[in-house]
Amino acid sequence: MRIGFIGLGNMGGPMAANLAKAQHRVAGFDVARAAVDAFAAQGGAAAASVAAAVAGAELVITMLPAGPQVREVYLGAGGVLDAVAPGTLLIDSSTIDVETARAVAADAARRGFDMLDAPVSGGVAGAAAASLTFMVGGSEAGFARALPVLQAMGKTIVHAGPAGSGQAAKICNNMILGVSMIAVSEGFALADRLGLDRQKLFEISSKSSGQCWSMTSYCPAPGPVPAAPSNRDYQPGFTADMMLKDLKLAQAAAGASGAATPLGAAAAAIYQMLANAGLGPKDFSVIFRLISRAGV
Ligand code: NAD
Repeated sequence: MRIGFIGLGNMGGPMAANLAKAQHRVAGFDVARAAVDAFAAQGGAAAASVAAAVAGAELVITMLPAGPQVREVYLGAGGVLDAVAPGTLLIDSSTIDVETARAVAADAARRGFDMLDAPVSGGVAGAAAASLTFMVGGSEAGFARALPVLQAMGKTIVHAGPAGSGQAAKICNNMILGVSMIAVSEGFALADRLGLDRQKLFEISSKSSGQCWSMTSYCPAPGPVPAAPSNRDYQPGFTADMMLKDLKLAQAAAGASGAATPLGAAAAAIYQMLANAGLGPKDFSVIFRLISRAGV
């Protein structure tokens, strides 16, 4: 398939490379020239603009930082909607706010295009290994068309519902993750204060009702899970800045919809403190450092 790919950063770069590996003809564009060059070195075709990347494409994928860039790339002058051929399927895999996802999809629909929101989880490692989880919002027909292409980049691909549902799933999941990472950090910080060996708490709690992904796969306290970022000075992984972004998106959505999310609100405030302390570029499990030092 002929695919236009916009946004060749930490995630988009390896995702687009996997599409090229799967024998799709992929034209890639990024405002950062180095990202385009790196993509060309991995079997992609370098494009000089958004319009050039999507010209003649049957499918367009975007992987951009946030809502404003998604609006600009789709709706701006010379953007995707101005440049694509009729019938092209549009897929935005960036993590953005539900409102922007729905608004851009509605604009696309008014101009006759089917658009899906398809944010991912699995991080840079999942992008490289083509093992991402895709949470997809949009039409059944669009999902069916997208599926074989998404399968070249991911393992678990779920149709979550109509436009915006993928973004909704993503922010709900990451709010749960942010809260659980703080809760596990508090548990291990308390254990330290009580003189309880971390390894013993892990042995017990990972088999008890406190068990969760934040503990067993990504333990924020150094020691119990050797592969976790906590054992390599919290190199990301998934940065605390990105977690803060997702928690803010969840709070905006909670405010707009009237959902009560008191722990989500507290998690956003705690991750803001972490960012203000200069730890935003570290892995989000570095929250353990802030929690374990509190009150010292
Ligand atoms: P990134 O900053 O590495 O990549 C974004 C790319 O978009 C950059 O290369 C940037 O130059 C490019 N870009 C920005 N504006 C552009 C424009 N107008 N036209 C063309 N290119 C433009 O970010 P990333 O880590 O690849 O994340 C991308 C998205 O995926 C974000 O929404 C993020 O929240 C989400 N996400 C990231 C991870 C992760 O672990 N990194 C995991 C899941 C989801």
